[in-house]
Amino acid sequence: MQVLVTGAGGFIGHHLVKYLVGKGHTVRGVDVKNPKYEPSPAHEFKLFDLRHFDYCLAATQGVEEVYNLAADMGGIGYITVFHAAVARNNALINLNMLEAARLSGVKRFLYSSSACVYPRYLQKKADATPLKEDDAHPADPEEGYGWEKLFTEKLCQYYREDYGLETRIVRFHNTYGPLGTYDGGREKAPAAICRKVALACDGDTVEVWGDGGQTRSFMYVADCVEGIHRLMRSDYPHPLNLGTDELVTVDQLVDLVVAISGKRIVKKHDLTRAQGVRGRNSDNTKLRQVLGWEPRIKLRNGLEFTYKWIESQVSKADREKAALAG
Ligand code: NAD
Repeated sequence: MQVLVTGAGGFIGHHLVKYLVGKGHTVRGVDVKNPKYEPSPAHEFKLFDLRHFDYCLAATQGVEEVYNLAADMGGIGYITVFHAAVARNNALINLNMLEAARLSGVKRFLYSSSACVYPRYLQKKADATPLKEDDAHPADPEEGYGWEKLFTEKLCQYYREDYGLETRIVRFHNTYGPLGTYDGGREKAPAAICRKVALACDGDTVEVWGDGGQTRSFMYVADCVEGIHRLMRSDYPHPLNLGTDELVTVDQLVDLVVAISGKRIVKKHDLTRAQGVRGRNSDNTKLRQVLGWEPRIKLRNGLEFTYKWIESQVSKADREKAALAG
């Protein structure tokens, strides 16, 4: 089958391309950039800016299924700052991609939504009640990024009802793993923490955003791409959580990374930094019902792979810097 992955130069998109190629699909990858850390195995890779309709049309030509992962996206320090640009860029990508998919006769269209659609009033406590799909309304999502995701979920529903385009909607909870952004301002908590610990010497202090008591669940990227593929193959058209329900505080996340590193590290909390909602967990009841499956990789195991990879990148960068300095 000929499939399109948008955002194929990004973290989840690149892993998904590898997975789909492994499943025997013919994959076209599209992004504004190539994957940063290794070449894409896509059969065809196009550098297109999908905010422009003509590129969306070209991207969807001859394609049976679309995995739409392209987004202007980053960690909490990014999406809480750039509300207008993020909402505008992502609305343009998604409006144009859905319409182009319809005109090109695409059969199935998977949209990558986010747990950021869930109302802030349900996420004020660290011992968060896991979020069920129906909790998204009445709406009070994350400003900018979350409002756009919620709108595009509805747009997918309308395209299915009015035009018969089979849409699938996945609400990712935090996803982490090797080959993801770990510096530069768009990185998310697990990657940022791995980088800081990898750069630290034994006995050093590492800065943690917020008081460390905020909670989240984290999904390893291999589970994520398997879940995406399973949802695409299912006949379930409504939004579905994809995440783990292994809730940890950010301090516990740091402690896990520190234990993996074998270093002694002191945590220093910076209360001026963004920490997002106080607590967020995924209710996987519907996920289990619909897919008969849920993410299985334990946080400790996934972090070991992630830390090892980020540590190797950081030391490679250090070696290169040292070589340049002569
Ligand atoms: P990412 O930033 O690594 O990948 C997104 C890719 O989209 C990037 O490579 C970027 O260059 C590309 N892109 C941005 N604007 C584009 C444009 N105008 N045209 C073409 N390509 C463009 O992010 P990711 O973590 O791989 O996320 C993939 C999807 O999953 C996104 O829709 C994101 O909102 C969603 N998501 C991710 C997480 C997570 O924890 N990683 C959580 C919730 C939702």
